Amino acid sequence: MNIKELDQTYIAGTYKRFPVEIVSGKGSIVQDENGKEYIDMGSGIAVTSFGIADDAWISAVEQQIHQVQHMSNLYYTAPCAMLAEKLCTRTGMKKVFFGNSGAEANECAIKVARKWAAEHKGVECSTIITLENSFHGRTLTTLAATGQAHYHELFQPLTPGFVHIPAGDLDALRRICEDRKTAAILIECIQGEGGIIPLSREYTDALSAYTKENNILLMIDEVQTGNGRTGKLYSYMHYGLKPDVLTTAKGLAGGLPLGACLMSEKVADVLSIGDHGSTFGGNPVACAAALSVLSRLTDVFLDEVDAKGKLLRSLLENQDGILSVSGMGLMLGLQTEKPAGQVVQAAMENGVLCLTAKNKVRLLPALNIPEPLLRKAAGIIKEACSVAN
Ligand SMILES: *Cc1c(COP(=O)(O)O)cnc(C)c1O
Repeated sequence: MNIKELDQTYIAGTYKRFPVEIVSGKGSIVQDENGKEYIDMGSGIAVTSFGIADDAWISAVEQQIHQVQHMSNLYYTAPCAMLAEKLCTRTGMKKVFFGNSGAEANECAIKVARKWAAEHKGVECSTIITLENSFHGRTLTTLAATGQAHYHELFQPLTPGFVHIPAGDLDALRRICEDRKTAAILIECIQGEGGIIPLSREYTDALSAYTKENNILLMIDEVQTGNGRTGKLYSYMHYGLKPDVLTTAKGLAGGLPLGACLMSEKVADVLSIGDHGSTFGGNPVACAAALSVLSRLTDVFLDEVDAKGKLLRSLLENQDGILSVSGMGLMLGLQTEKPAGQVVQAAMENGVLCLTAKNKVRLLPALNIPEPLLRKAAGIIKEACSVAN
């Protein structure tokens, strides 16, 4: 059997794959089994922050692999302590819990919210509000947090205590909170899987004020938007928010599994010994990779991400077949006249890998994609969107 047949025979059928096998790559170029090259505008879904097989990333990982590739959380290791310190100093948060994925980072946030509320507001205060059209993960609890019914249908009963409200609807928020049983609200500043939909500044200002006044935790899911993706270290920084809890994963370690739940002063002491854990969480190789990624996300570099995002947007906005461009930095969504899937297919045939998100074409290139490649990819995407020919 060839690779496609092996995969189709032995891998659980949860993914609809394109008929392409990716065998290697460098930077923003990947190669398939026939040697055909593609410009990668998806980065493994916002994961390979500095592209494929990046030299600095490889050297950080390699150095740590030779030193110690894993150690249990019974002992101290340098990379995870140093990474936690970096994450805290750059966000003003006070404590970090490391897991291996976005879903685990959100699970931790939810446990923090539940325990904090039980101790400070009463055990009946367990409600966690999330937004309609949100995405927070695939575990049964993060699925319950996810505000998209089609993910829920066949997996009932989900973890109770989650309520979904429409983004922008402050009356709905007030109505839910009337019973004073709300522990936290969890939001994405830009809904990623939901179609690259940014919240309005007006709404986040109001949310921030409301959560403060009512002693409700504001938790921000930066799994997709984080680690430089939007042109700032975390997307909440565009909004002037002060999260009580922040979760991140995807691009954090640039291609190794790592998730983090960051806790502010207010909740820093909620988790105590035995409350939570993870065998692989804080793995030294993943943390060494993340230290390398974070060290490169300087202000100058983030300004370049912002500039590249603006360039990409300008190359696609008002083009034939493209109705609108949403998002920030190098996280953009295209509303196209053709179905998004058809655009992605056409772009792939012409050597560009893109993603979809709901009915949008989603672009998440490596943060260091060279400008000529970005221009070339934009040209091919533009062509794929065009309805003139
Ligand atoms: C991808 C994603 C998750 C889930 O992350 P996994 O690593 O797949 O568990 C959670 N929240 C958001 C916003 C995401 O984009």
